Amino acid sequence: MELQGKVALVTGGSRGIGAAIALALARSGADIAICDLQPTPDAEGILKAVTGLGGRASFFPADVSDFQRAQKVVAEVVAALGRLDILVNNAGINLDRVSWKMSEEEWDRVLGVNLKGAFNYARAAALIFRGQQGGKIVNISSVNGLRGQWGLANYAAAKAGLIGLTKTLARELGSSHVNVNAVAPGYIRTKMTDALPRQAKDDALKETVLGRLGTPEDVAHLVAFLCSERAAYITGEVIKVDGGQYI
Ligand code: NDP
Repeated sequence: MELQGKVALVTGGSRGIGAAIALALARSGADIAICDLQPTPDAEGILKAVTGLGGRASFFPADVSDFQRAQKVVAEVVAALGRLDILVNNAGINLDRVSWKMSEEEWDRVLGVNLKGAFNYARAAALIFRGQQGGKIVNISSVNGLRGQWGLANYAAAKAGLIGLTKTLARELGSSHVNVNAVAPGYIRTKMTDALPRQAKDDALKETVLGRLGTPEDVAHLVAFLCSERAAYITGEVIKVDGGQYI
C-alpha cells in the first residue's frame, strides 16, 4: 500500500492498458481519477473495482485533445479527491495509413490525442506538482515511437514526440522533485490491437524473444513501480515493455 493517500489521474483509464494501470495503482493504495471520452460500462466496471479495493474513484468525461477541458479536469480532480500526485498520460488512438495516402485529418487527430493530449494534462499537473514540490508523470509511448513502423507516420511521430516531451518535463520539473518517465510498450493485446490485421499480430509475436505477446498488466506493473518511491531516482527515462520485440 505504498501509494496510500495519493491520488492518480489516468487518461483513457476505462479499458485496456489504462484500466490495468488504474487497478495496479489502486492495489498500491491510490485513489483513482479516470478521464475518458464518455462514461461507459467498462469505465463503470473499473470504478467499481477500485472502490472494491478500498479506494475512491471518480470519472471525468473529456477529450484529452481539448486544452481548456484538460485544465478544468485537473482542477475537478483536485476538488473531488483533494489532491493530485500522479498523472498517467495513457489515452491514445491509431488511424493507420501509409504516409502518402494519410489525410490531414488522420495526422491531426492522432497528434492531437496522443501528443497534444499528454501536453494538455502535463501542463495542468505541472502547476500543482510545482506548488506541492512533488509528483509523478508517466507517458505511455510505444516501441514504434523509437523505431518507426510502416503505416504509422502519425502514430510513430506522436509517440516519438512524447519522448521529447518526457525528457523536457523531467528537466523542467526535476528541481521540484517531480519524476517524469515514458514507457514504450510493444504489442499488447487490447481492443486497439484486436482491430489490427492478423499479420500484424503474427509479425509482432515473431519479433518477441519471450515468445508471447504482452498483456496490459505487463505494462501496469512497470507504471506502478515508476509511480512509487522505489523509483525516486529514475527520471527522464524511456523503458520498453515489449518482450524483446525491439532489442
Ligand atoms: P484502447 O483503445 O484499448 O484504449 C484506449 C483508451 O483511451 C480508451 O479508454 C479510449 O476511450 C481512450 N481514449 C481514446 N481517445 C481518447 C480521447 N480523445 N480522450 C480521452 N480518452 C480517449 O488502447 P490501449 O489500451 O491498447 O492503449 C493505451 C495506450 O497505450 C495508448 O496510448 C496506446 O497508443 C499505447 N500503446 C498501446 C500498445 C498496444 O499494443 N496496445 C502498444 C504501445 C503503446 P474510448 O473507449 O472512449 O475510445
